[in-house]
Amino acid sequence: MATLEIECPICAEVLELSDQDRAELQPGDVIVCDSCNAEMEVTRSGGGDDFELELLGILTTCPSCGEEFEVTEELLATAPTVEAADGSEVSVVPCPHCHARIELEFEEESDGADLSRQYQSNS
Ligand SMILES: [Zn+2]
Ligand SMILES: [Zn+2]
Repeated sequence: MATLEIECPICAEVLELSDQDRAELQPGDVIVCDSCNAEMEVTRSGGGDDFELELLGILTTCPSCGEEFEVTEELLATAPTVEAADGSEVSVVPCPHCHARIELEFEEESDGADLSRQYQSNS
C-alpha cells in the first residue's frame, strides 16, 4: 500500500497518509499536524498522488500571556502590517486573551503559503 508523505508547511514534520487515509478524506476535511497544530484543509483528493492540502491556520502561543490562539489566513488578511526595524514587513495580530499586539513575520514563497514565524517582543 502506497503511503503519501506530506511535509507540514509550518514545522516540516512529515505526515504519513496511507491510501486508506486518503480514501477517507474528502475536499473540505481538515488535518491537524501532530507536531505544531497547524490546520490544513484537503483541497484535492483524487486518488494516487492527486492529493493537495491548503494551510488554514496555526495554533500559536501568545508570548505575552501564554494562551493559545489560532492565526488564520483570514486574520492575517485583515491584520495591519508594519515595517520592522530590518525593513521586513510584519503582520500585527491581537491576542484574543490579553489583547497584546503580536508581530508575526511570514516569509512568503512563490509557491504558496509557506509560513515561518518569528516573534518580536512588543513592549
Ligand atoms: Zn506541523
Ligand atoms: Zn495574550
